[in-house]
Amino acid sequence: MARKLETVANGDFTPTVVVKNFIGGEEREAKAGERFESVSASHRVDVVGSVPLSSAADVEEACRVAGAAAASWAATPAPVRGAIIGRIGEAIVQYKELLSRVVCREIGKSMRESRGEVQEAIDTAHFFQAEGRRLYGQTVNSEMPNKELFTYRRPLGVAAMITAGNFPMAVPSWKILPALLCGNTVVWKPSEDAPVIAYLFGRIMEDARVPAGVLNIVHGSGAGGAGAAVLECVDKGLIQKVSFTGSTEVGRKVGEVCGRNLQIPSLELGGKNPLVVLRDADLDVAVEGALFSGYGTAGQRCTSLGNLILDKPIAAEFKKRLLARISEIQIGDVTQGEDMLYGPMINERFGNNFLKHLDMGKEDGATLLTTQHGRITNENKPANFVGDADAGFYVFPTLWDGVTADMKLAQTEVFGPVITVMEVDGIDEAIEAANCAPYGLSSACYTMNPTHILKFKNGIRAGMTSINNTTNGAEAHLPFGGCGWSGNGTRESGVWVIDAYTRWHAVNEDLAGKLQLAQIDVDFGDTHEPTDMSALD
Ligand code: NAD
Repeated sequence: MARKLETVANGDFTPTVVVKNFIGGEEREAKAGERFESVSASHRVDVVGSVPLSSAADVEEACRVAGAAAASWAATPAPVRGAIIGRIGEAIVQYKELLSRVVCREIGKSMRESRGEVQEAIDTAHFFQAEGRRLYGQTVNSEMPNKELFTYRRPLGVAAMITAGNFPMAVPSWKILPALLCGNTVVWKPSEDAPVIAYLFGRIMEDARVPAGVLNIVHGSGAGGAGAAVLECVDKGLIQKVSFTGSTEVGRKVGEVCGRNLQIPSLELGGKNPLVVLRDADLDVAVEGALFSGYGTAGQRCTSLGNLILDKPIAAEFKKRLLARISEIQIGDVTQGEDMLYGPMINERFGNNFLKHLDMGKEDGATLLTTQHGRITNENKPANFVGDADAGFYVFPTLWDGVTADMKLAQTEVFGPVITVMEVDGIDEAIEAANCAPYGLSSACYTMNPTHILKFKNGIRAGMTSINNTTNGAEAHLPFGGCGWSGNGTRESGVWVIDAYTRWHAVNEDLAGKLQLAQIDVDFGDTHEPTDMSALD
């Protein structure tokens, strides 16, 4: 590496990292010279990074630079682009522990999950390194002699990425690595919640010798800031593809802008993910699955469990076991140990939104099964809490009972550690309840009955389904994405994402030496005599 990452950050309480934009192969300040601070979610006095607050002028410059670099990058052979992606993967392996510690420090994700997050970027790099040697087109038979047909995957041009902060390494890698591999140049507006990890990821890509102008990173805010400026650049014709991960509300705005420019954005949005437990399930396995997917990462995953749908015969026992496990959860400062199930809310906005859902549940008439609620403070905290509760925004895990499909609680993504219990009678009612929310990202069903498994797989409306596993758990070579309010049907990961960053180009090559017309000059060997159908009467 040209400059070792250790000189910039060591993952612990280093001096504040001075983040820069990255445009045209150079580190740059925002033109207006403004900056904002990224503070640690666990210790809000710990300033992890000082970050450029970019304006529309910075974003536009990055788009123009990316546009200028597009032709030569598209002309670079795909195996060579793949080799660069491979070097990015090697560097992430080398810096896995450091990067994991920065994820943990900046957004408050447990070290165990932070390492998983970074590993997903490694897996993605390895996958797309090899894809550089495939990126196949097809040879297609022509209906005429001396004519050959081919299809080619062509890059789209400048691909802009806008990402959320809860998966600051994995999700950007899902977008940036395949977009680059496919021959697009990139402008990335990372989340303002995780700019330091974005900066380090950018440094790794720079050091892997991604050519100048091919990858550009512009930091800043969303509405009224760099994020909004990205969308303005779509209207200005400077961007040919937008890939967005974030809330459904902002995703709709991205969709509107791209739609009027006749572009298909990739939209990976919110979720209200159902987890069904049927009467023939292994309850211990299902309780652990519900606990991890409902409360892990403080419920701040797009694939977090929302509606827990319990089959009546096992409902009481399941709730009893789940409550017992909730009482054992360890919450706290994830920078202080490895045993915490979850740490702080990533930011105040998420914390305050979570608190608001308590009123929503009361208005709905649902029943709280957990006894302590709201914000955890040093005066009011679980006995086994680790660290200084007032230094971050920590909240109690919440379990609601008596929830029905028509309640706001069942319909709304809360994005925090909350599970809402609905009771049903059998597989058919379970599927109906699981489909009650307008989202359709992930889903899970615990059962040992193969007929119920088949029914669930066929009946559930979701982009992803787990059988006897949690609502989480993406793998780098499986398609990731949702339907309904969770997205527009585009997919990340694996070979499927390649469709998002390429367009098909059909080419016909005629060597006949004369004009020959498809459909018209084709000899199918038929006589053109009408067939006598009278014998059929
Ligand atoms: P958000 O939509 O507020 O912000 C996401 C990104 O969009 C940030 O970079 C932000 O700066 C930018 N942004 C915000 N407003 C904008 C605007 N008007 N114009 C342009 N850009 C704008 O999302 P969030 O609340 O920070 O993240 C949590 C949400 O993300 C949840 O709904 C979660 O489910 C979702 N999410 C989805 C996935 C997925 O793959 N489906 C993954 C992670 C998170």
